Amino acid sequence: MADVMGHAPPNPRPMTTPSARPALLSLDEVLARMLAVARDRVIPEIEKVDTFDALGRVLARGVVSGLDVPPADNSAMDGYAVRVADLSAPGALLTVSQRIPAGVVGAPLQLGTAARIFTGAQLPAGADAVVMQEQVQVEPAEEGGLGTVRIAAPPPAGQWIRRRGEDVQHGAEVLAVGDRLTPQALGLAASVGASRLGVRRRPRVALFSTGDELVMPGESLRPGAIYNSNRFTLRGLLLAAGCEVNDLGIVPDRLDATRDALRRAAQHSDLILTSGGVSVGEEDHIKPSVKAEGWLEAWQVAMKPGKPLVFGAVRRAESPAAAIAEALFIGLPGNPVSSFVTFLLAVAPVLRALQGMPAALPPAIRVRADFDWPKPDVRREFLRARFNAEGGVELFPNQSSGVLTSAVWADGLVDNPSGQVVRRGDSVSLLLLSSLIGS
Ligand code: AMP
Ligand code: MG
Repeated sequence: MADVMGHAPPNPRPMTTPSARPALLSLDEVLARMLAVARDRVIPEIEKVDTFDALGRVLARGVVSGLDVPPADNSAMDGYAVRVADLSAPGALLTVSQRIPAGVVGAPLQLGTAARIFTGAQLPAGADAVVMQEQVQVEPAEEGGLGTVRIAAPPPAGQWIRRRGEDVQHGAEVLAVGDRLTPQALGLAASVGASRLGVRRRPRVALFSTGDELVMPGESLRPGAIYNSNRFTLRGLLLAAGCEVNDLGIVPDRLDATRDALRRAAQHSDLILTSGGVSVGEEDHIKPSVKAEGWLEAWQVAMKPGKPLVFGAVRRAESPAAAIAEALFIGLPGNPVSSFVTFLLAVAPVLRALQGMPAALPPAIRVRADFDWPKPDVRREFLRARFNAEGGVELFPNQSSGVLTSAVWADGLVDNPSGQVVRRGDSVSLLLLSSLIGS
């Protein structure tokens, strides 16, 4: 959608006009719309970082191995490297001719001899099996010698040998563009000798909460006020997703203050994320503000929790010719569980797309419902659920979108289709929070 200069598109044709009553759209429809825009705005900057410092970053360059791993056949055990052909007679006796600790390259193995060898040491030329030290009978060493070993039965060829290249072959791409650098991915990059990695710049996200009732923990709770929990939940989710967060705090429920916050937020961010103020009440100023400062599509999403969702962009006052001239905007509902779930299902995919990652939701797993859900909603529901000791899942008793306790208690979200009655023992789809958070 961006032109060659990377400029913002002209106002896209909205799926709804702000004045019309927004249609109820499926989560898949709104995701498709958001991802179509986000995929045109993949963060262009690539940074070279030390592999040491790359945890959680997203690769912008694949990692190709310049070597075989392991680089040579080596022993998987502490024991004796042998030639199988020397051991055809039961109880064969071999002279121990050398000692090969890890890191040392031994001499070729002479006929009729064994090499004392340790885990990870390169196999001497000519050896074709390793016998564990527990399975040999060691005869005492004569003066100056390394002794002999008696081996009851011939080992199969290749026993306890880790083959050259059995993990990674020279020329193989071990990590691809768009891969998130998990601890084990960093280990794999290091195992092929990569000391620096090409990663995408972190997404810059400006965050603010709307609501005159909000106060911060540490402040006194005046009558009518509540503590701002979304600021913590959303900031944490953004940080876990690898973003740089510009936290603008609480913005009052006024049009001028909201517009002002949007303009400030747009300057240095790829995405502006807000919570609250997206309903239709006259205290909800997000939609008119975004409309005045850019463009928007306001949706009613057929999901529960979460229903109102605003997607759009805010113009940047000044931006270099090469830069995209607007920041994307996503406005989440204010209810704490709604904003949490909507972040995981709608914002996280957009963040992945901005980083050139596969954006789709992680696959759900099928699990046994150890609960009844006799009165399903017409909207697709995401029910807070937890594994029990019998391997089924149970529901948090209060599924209200204001009950944040449910999101802490849960292992995952049961993805229940519109109108689907669930009976104890049925199989249901579960999205694991561990695969949704930080991905
Ligand atoms: P709103 O979307 O602004 O109408 O808010 C819906 C509900 O969520 C109201 O009960 C708000 O008080 C509550 N809420 C909004 N923002 C926050 C927040 N940052 N932290 C906790 N609750 C909030
Ligand atoms: Mg509000």
